[in-house]
Amino acid sequence: MKEASHTVRLITTFGRRSEFEKAAARLQALGLPYETISPEPGYARVGVPALVVEQKVRLELAARDGDSDFVHAGWVEFRAPRRPVPAEPPPEFAEDLVGEVAIMVLAPCVADKSRMRFIAHLGGSLAPALPYLNAELPEACYNPKGETLTFMDRYRLVTLYPYRVVVAKNDDIVDGWRVLELVRRRINETWARRREIAPCYQTREKPPALEIYKRLPKTNCRACGQLTCLAFAVMVHDGELPASKCKPVFEGDCGHLRDALVEVVAAMGMTP
Ligand code: SF4
Repeated sequence: MKEASHTVRLITTFGRRSEFEKAAARLQALGLPYETISPEPGYARVGVPALVVEQKVRLELAARDGDSDFVHAGWVEFRAPRRPVPAEPPPEFAEDLVGEVAIMVLAPCVADKSRMRFIAHLGGSLAPALPYLNAELPEACYNPKGETLTFMDRYRLVTLYPYRVVVAKNDDIVDGWRVLELVRRRINETWARRREIAPCYQTREKPPALEIYKRLPKTNCRACGQLTCLAFAVMVHDGELPASKCKPVFEGDCGHLRDALVEVVAAMGMTP
């Protein structure tokens, strides 16, 4: 799909295929142009087709009260998918804890407006699998009381609740479906092997300062005024110094670390 640089385009998706079909029918009836992006076949279990329209079409639709006929997840600026939907269909599982997946909220990411976040509601419950997943993901942050488990998929923050999945910093809609399919497989594969896994009910807080440290040069050059990179990471984590004080990353010869550092600091809700 070609992206015209001068034209703002918007994308939305739907919790149910029937709502997508209503929206497409409404646009057709009004003679308004649109494109679709389908999750099939590879992500067919975690998504329904998304609609892409020019901003002026979106405004016209609203002006004609045409978007009150269907329920959608919200409009965000369209980003052309960076990777294709896989050609092979998703695997089936004898026990599917995830069930039907419906993206109900689509919005720009708070930490990075060029990316998007979404909330997907689930037909099943992930709760029984979380202690097993906690045992297998040592870097995850598990809260057994709140029944949440958070982990990073590179720079994307993925939080699992019993009946919801929240993902921040998706590149585009196909990237979002990819993360949901990853969750679906990881949950169901872990659940299928549960008799081989000792469930872990331990609350394990991820040390966020270490996540910052991992993305520093680790040379202890002191250009930031701290004795070590680890001390600097703790100061950034506590909000006492901005990450940009690391001169090798922001002004020197470690610029290759800059994106990763900015992403993790932003994902923690701080300004780099
Ligand atoms: S300036 Fe960067 S590389 Fe040097 S000590 Fe501080 S954090 Fe480490």
